Amino acid sequence: MKSNIEAFLDIVKERNGNEPEFLQAVEEVAETVIPYIVKHDIYYGKNILLRMVEPERLISFRVSWVDDSGEIQVNRGYRIQMNSAIGPYKGGLRFHPTVNASILKFLAFEQVFKNSLTTLPMGGGKGGSDFDPKGKSDNEIMRFCHAFMSELFRHIGPNTDVPAGDIGVGAREIGFLFGMYKKLNNEFTGVLTGKGLSWGGSLIRPEATGYGNVYFAQKMLETKGDSIEGKTVVVSGSGNVAQYAAEKVLHLGGKVVTLSDSSGYIYDEEGIDEDKLSFVMTLKNVKRGRISEYLEKYPNAKFVGNKTPWGVKCDIALPCATQNELHEDDANTLIKNGCICVSEGANMPSTKEAIAVFHKAKILFAPGKASNAGGVATSGLEMTQNSLRFKWTREEVDNKLKDIMSDIHKSCLEYGKDDDGYIDYVRGANIAGFVKVADAMLAQGVV
Ligand code: NDP
Repeated sequence: MKSNIEAFLDIVKERNGNEPEFLQAVEEVAETVIPYIVKHDIYYGKNILLRMVEPERLISFRVSWVDDSGEIQVNRGYRIQMNSAIGPYKGGLRFHPTVNASILKFLAFEQVFKNSLTTLPMGGGKGGSDFDPKGKSDNEIMRFCHAFMSELFRHIGPNTDVPAGDIGVGAREIGFLFGMYKKLNNEFTGVLTGKGLSWGGSLIRPEATGYGNVYFAQKMLETKGDSIEGKTVVVSGSGNVAQYAAEKVLHLGGKVVTLSDSSGYIYDEEGIDEDKLSFVMTLKNVKRGRISEYLEKYPNAKFVGNKTPWGVKCDIALPCATQNELHEDDANTLIKNGCICVSEGANMPSTKEAIAVFHKAKILFAPGKASNAGGVATSGLEMTQNSLRFKWTREEVDNKLKDIMSDIHKSCLEYGKDDDGYIDYVRGANIAGFVKVADAMLAQGVV
């Protein structure tokens, strides 16, 4: 078995040697999926995983725009169209200075499995730019988004590729991107998700990733006869996913004690209640401030600069900021402090070594491709509403989201249960995601 996995990874490394994040994501999948392929003749010997690690199309383009001082700026834009076996490419756009082909390929690869798990007909893709939105004026953001879409528009469409938001791309950016797409194509269509409510957006889409993550954590806890109620929860990040994960924890009776951004974390021992969270939402979404400014309003809290919050004692940890933000030593500290459940809101926030620590300690651990799939699932529901030219109520969408998270949990149980009853959600999610895409690829032949 080892040699099958090693032989496969050698080929992938040779082709993508300078893409560490992509290799990390592929390795995690290969280690759980190849043993399954080997035992199942319908997949064995068809190079199916080798086909899945090669993007169907990788688009890279120049984005030139003029800043407020009249200087011409040049950024690089990307769209990775990874796999369209079960539906149009679907996945977010990330605007962050660290964006490169490796990060987008890892995200696009994960997205294929995640979208498959949602039970909805969506292929996988991802895109973005090394553009840094921090410190830019609204006009600069608009000019950049318009320039970005003036190239991307020719590669996407409601039946081809439907991008959404991710880090640095929220409601404001989706608006600017949609405006330019509509102008260039002269058509009002559901080509992006995360749209505003008055122009095709879905209720619950902004909340969906964070809410879905907490619904998933609740499902995991139920397998132990436990729940979120009364639990102390450490959350990283303070963006879209973190904000709504924190909100749902509060709804379910838990206590959130941390939030963070790339400059450090705040620790509020008394708990971040609804009023405090509403302050954070205004601070981050409207004023575009830093999380340390929380202390100006709530001086009893602490700010710890340049650190992640994993040293804070908690029952549940929800990493909701970015990839590789939770390392082996952090995982050991969480376990030592009594943490019983880690549910990833971000994509690949835990390193491979950290996941091994969680598995060894046999705590509940959900990989992002399962636990944060609520966002893209609700994007799928937005696409459905756009096609139907109809709008579901908040309650209807929320109930569908809960059902989807519950179905994803069931799929993980189907493929992830160990002999001793421990649930390996990583294996469960990888195999369940793989089977549906692989079956579609086999049915469609070698294309
Ligand atoms: P936002 O841009 O809204 O927020 C990102 C948060 O993470 C900010 O607090 C940001 O801090 C912090 N962050 C970003 N980069 C780093 C870094 N290198 N180190 C420390 N902190 C960092 O993004 P989202 O909330 O939308 O996304 C968060 C994660 O969730 C990402 O991994 C994304 O891929 C994933 N995700 C998002 C979905 C969605 O629907 N939005 C769906 C599924 C997954 P700062 O402001 O200082 O940069």
